[in-house]
Amino acid sequence: MRYDVEALRRDFPILDRTVYGKPLVYLDNTATSQTPRVVVEAIENMYFNHKANVHRGVFSISQEATDMMEATRGKVCSYINAASPSEIIFTRGTTEGINLVASSFGSFMENGDEIILTAMEHHANIVPWQLLGSRKRIGLRVVPVRPDGSLDLDQYRNLFSERTRLVAVCHVSNVLGTVNPIQEMVDYAHSMGVPVLVDGAQAVPHMTIDMQALDADFYAFSSHKMYGPAGVGILYGKERWLEKMPPYQGGGEMISHVSFKKTTYAELPFKFEAGTPDFVDIAAFSACLDYISAIGIDAIEAHERELLEWTTAEMEKIPGMRIFGTAPGKCAVISFLMGDAHHYDTGMLLDKLGIAVRTGHHCAQPLMEALGIEGTVRASFGLYNTKAEAEAFIAALHRIAPMLM
Ligand code: PMP
Repeated sequence: MRYDVEALRRDFPILDRTVYGKPLVYLDNTATSQTPRVVVEAIENMYFNHKANVHRGVFSISQEATDMMEATRGKVCSYINAASPSEIIFTRGTTEGINLVASSFGSFMENGDEIILTAMEHHANIVPWQLLGSRKRIGLRVVPVRPDGSLDLDQYRNLFSERTRLVAVCHVSNVLGTVNPIQEMVDYAHSMGVPVLVDGAQAVPHMTIDMQALDADFYAFSSHKMYGPAGVGILYGKERWLEKMPPYQGGGEMISHVSFKKTTYAELPFKFEAGTPDFVDIAAFSACLDYISAIGIDAIEAHERELLEWTTAEMEKIPGMRIFGTAPGKCAVISFLMGDAHHYDTGMLLDKLGIAVRTGHHCAQPLMEALGIEGTVRASFGLYNTKAEAEAFIAALHRIAPMLM
């Protein structure tokens, strides 16, 4: 089937917008992606027809809302091929998922224990471990990044010790686009008896994810980066860990029985879902998974790869262009600097031409330090970007180059 990008674009009303009188070219999909009409209609449907608190009411619409939320859980379970819906925990996003593991699984760790991270982690996969480390003396061992943006697996293996309690690693870098050899990393950690948390925020929007094949212990991602509503995330966790782990937050929904003497907790996954969940957006996330599945994640990936390859080749022709992250098989994320120009100036000039790119440290300051820079400009593609948009981006770079270099 032909990839009909023009037809897909009609599903995203925001793409018709202009900025400074120029058509919007949205190239910040790594930070958040746009949302198709069907998903917004699903939100509207929840508000207009089914809004009632979930898991509580005996009345019909409460049961409908509950069924819709739980249907999403089932759909996520099959989408990522988890073993059971009780391994799917709804969170506010990747950040909350990782904080949940740091706080709850982290309670098993002791002074002197170690966690292996990589130098390309997002702050969301660094700071929760530092917070844990401020309560206990936890050592963070960091896998360095090679000049092309890939990890050196020998260095990774060398970091294991008998105190290693967890590996916490991103599947795909939000700055470099590097797709880490996650299967090998999980297999090796397991051979050392160490569980693995994967930050999948940048992987799930671009590739097939199979929890049972990968065998990671935890895997966190966010709906808003996969064309879904903001405020919803998923934490996959292996049942055998989740059963053992203490609750993350206390409150309604997560209990079985409360008394002032003793409180018992709900079954999985509800033990980890204190308070009223964002059932409206969770229900709508189901429409988002249907939308992606109907196009096919492999077709999306192939489309984005074409844009990545063409755009990278064109950028390399611009004298003074510096691209960060050139590992083979990388995702459609291009971090760059134009000579010594400040990333912010480049981003501002591109915005005046209607092109939305991200500038700054991308919540990866340790990586910036390792690269010896303060920040980059980052262009990233999504399922609706076109060759014409890539051409407009390249034309804009040529136009601003003389002003910056
Ligand atoms: N990890 C990575 C690799 C990311 O790119 C992001 C978002 N930029 C996050 C974690 C955090 O995701 P969220 O803000 O949705 O919690």
